[in-house]
Amino acid sequence: MSSWKDNIRKVVPYVPGEQPKIKNIVKLNTNECPYPPSPAVEKAIAEQSKNDLRKYPSITCGELKTALEKIYPVTDDMLFLGNGSDEVLALCFMTYFNSSKPVLFPDITYSFYDVWCDLYNIRYTRVPLDEGFKIRPEDYYGENGGIIIANPNAPTSIYMPLESITDILDHNRDVIVIIDEAYIDFGGISAVSLLEKYDNLVVVQTFSKSRALAGIRVGYAMANKELIAALEAVKNSFNSYTINSLSLAAATAAANDTVYWQDCCSKIKVTRERLIQQLDALGFDTLPSSANFIFTSNKNINAKELFEYLRKSGIIVRYFDKPRINDRLRITVGTDEETDKLIACIKSYLSK
Ligand SMILES: *Cc1c(COP(=O)(O)O)cnc(C)c1O
Repeated sequence: MSSWKDNIRKVVPYVPGEQPKIKNIVKLNTNECPYPPSPAVEKAIAEQSKNDLRKYPSITCGELKTALEKIYPVTDDMLFLGNGSDEVLALCFMTYFNSSKPVLFPDITYSFYDVWCDLYNIRYTRVPLDEGFKIRPEDYYGENGGIIIANPNAPTSIYMPLESITDILDHNRDVIVIIDEAYIDFGGISAVSLLEKYDNLVVVQTFSKSRALAGIRVGYAMANKELIAALEAVKNSFNSYTINSLSLAAATAAANDTVYWQDCCSKIKVTRERLIQQLDALGFDTLPSSANFIFTSNKNINAKELFEYLRKSGIIVRYFDKPRINDRLRITVGTDEETDKLIACIKSYLSK
């Protein structure tokens, strides 16, 4: 006998890092910024909440776009805003990856990419990173239905120079190439300067990491206006108001406070280098990081055991039980104080 159960769509979802409600925890598992957002954000939200929440939010998101146009070499028809870059990326997959050929992305990368492919029935091929966890541009020369690369990559933290992206673009003029730049502000150079030359390039960024606003859910795509119009049409077939007015106000304030933003990124970079040095001294092998997290291993330590020990001690990091990376931990760069606690805890584990 048939059942309503036959008609239910079954998917295997992406699993984000946990958000425990435990007090005094050192939370280094989801790459959030350890510092609060710009003080201008709180003011903007308070101000906005006095204005008309009765009404739908702005359709054009004009103020936020204006703020972003001051930072990036784009015009407002080259900008698309969404409810976190996860939503922007999901809509990009739906809009740009409609070939019968497989989409390419690294074997080790953001684990949402294959989830979206499965959701939309997009074929894909995972391209192995080299032994040093680097992307080899020549592996992306073959026929494909599109390419998505996180740069810096996650969870490896490794940045691929713009020449390599140019190389991939030069060999792929007939498909869309998406560069997911969630971590670009912590050490890389954005591919946004390549938009002028490549009409098949899409650059995606977020307010969640470097601008300390994971809670407001705002992300954006930058591309030529034809690609952006296609993305808008798909979004408007789904939900016209993906960003609420409070989030719009918050993101606009954060985007306008470039001094605070740059300062935050610099502090995180300094702490990151300190953390890597301290781990070096304890025999860890950490990949070169251009992100606000590190990816580290120690051949004398079982990563899962250390992960569990840290967790019991109130320090949460990320462990992926997956081939090639199950001997590593991904650790978000926190404040200096959090870093000291982490190092002390690792030392106590080592002296057990
Ligand atoms: C964090 C992250 C995102 C998504 O961030 P949002 O909070 O949805 O903007 C996208 N890509 C990568 C690689 C990330 O690590």
